[in-house]
Amino acid sequence: MSADAQLLALSGGIGGAKLALGLDRVLPAGRLTVLANTGDDFVHLGLHVSPDIDTLLYTLAGLDDPVRGWGRKDETWTFMAALKALGGEDWFLLGDGDLATHVERSRLLAAGETLSAVTERLRSRLGIGSAVLPMSDDPVRTRVKTKSEGWLDFQPYFVGRRCEPEVEALAFDGAEDARLAPGVAAALDDPALAAIIICPSNPYLSIDPILAVPGMRASLENRRVPVLAVSPIIAGQAVKGPTAKMMRELGLEPSAATVARHYEGLVDILVVDEADEGLAVPAGMRAVAAPTWMRTLEDRTRLARRVLEALGWQAGAAS
Ligand code: GDP
Repeated sequence: MSADAQLLALSGGIGGAKLALGLDRVLPAGRLTVLANTGDDFVHLGLHVSPDIDTLLYTLAGLDDPVRGWGRKDETWTFMAALKALGGEDWFLLGDGDLATHVERSRLLAAGETLSAVTERLRSRLGIGSAVLPMSDDPVRTRVKTKSEGWLDFQPYFVGRRCEPEVEALAFDGAEDARLAPGVAAALDDPALAAIIICPSNPYLSIDPILAVPGMRASLENRRVPVLAVSPIIAGQAVKGPTAKMMRELGLEPSAATVARHYEGLVDILVVDEADEGLAVPAGMRAVAAPTWMRTLEDRTRLARRVLEALGWQAGAAS
C-alpha cells in the first residue's frame, strides 16, 4: 500500500464512531476520511441537529460521553431544565455544551455555508486529524413506516417513541435528488483511495441512507478498491440499539449472515465476530473473524488493526 494511501469509512453514530476512533488512532495522520449518515438530521427548536456527525466529532475529539453513548461528557442540563419549566418541547435532550454545536451549525448554515463547510469548521476547531464529511449537503430525511402509527419522522420514532412501534418500511426522503457532498465525490475519485470500510453501523438506518444518495451504491458496485464491512450483529444480537429488533420486524433473521446478504455485491470482506466464525457468506465475499465487541479504547484500536490487516495494509504503515 502506498505511503499516501487513503481510507474512506462509512459510518452512522455510536457503533460506527467506535471503529472510526480506532482507525483514527492507528493510522498515520491524514489518511482517514469518515463519511457520516445525515438521514437522522432534523431541525429541532429551530436548530439544525446532525446526530451522527456530532457523535463522530465528539468521539474523535475525545469529548463523547462514554456512559450515555451520545452527546458530550461532563455535560450540564440547565437549558433543558429551563425549557421544561417554560413548557417547551423536552422530548429530545440537548445538553448545554451540545447546544453550542447546534447553535453554531445553524448560524453558519443560515449565513449560507454548506453542511460540509460547517462540519469542516467544527472538525478543525475540535482538533480532529481525520476528515469528517456529511454524505450530502442536500437534505435527506429518513422516515419510518410503523404498523400502529403510520409514517413517522426519524427522531420522533427513534427518540420520541424509543423505537417501540413495529417497523414495516423505511424511506429516505430527498435521497433521489441529493448529490454526494463534494468531498465525498473527491474521496471516491482520489487515486490514493486504497479501501472503503463500512463501519459496524445499523445497515438499514445508518448505511442504507448513504447508499441511497445517487452515485454511492454504484461506486461500491463498480469499486476499484476493496470494500470491507464490519458486522454490527454479534451472535444474533445488536450490541446496542434497535438493529436486531428492526431486522425481525422487517422479516429478517438478526444475524451476521443477514448482514452479509444485505451487503452482497458491495463488499469483498466481511469482518464478523469470533462468535460467528465459520459463517457462510455469499459468493465473492470473504469472511474474517475477529473480536469485534469494542468495549474499551484498546478494543477499538485492535479491531482497527485487524481491519487494516485484512485489507493487506502493512502493519508498519499503520503504527
Ligand atoms: P447510531 O446511528 O447511533 O444508531 O449508530 P450506528 O448505526 O453507527 O451503530 C448502531 C449499531 O452499532 C448497532 O447495530 C450495534 O449493534 C452496533 N455496535 C455498537 N457497538 C458495537 C461494537 O462494539 N461492535 C460491533 N460489532 N457493533 C457494535
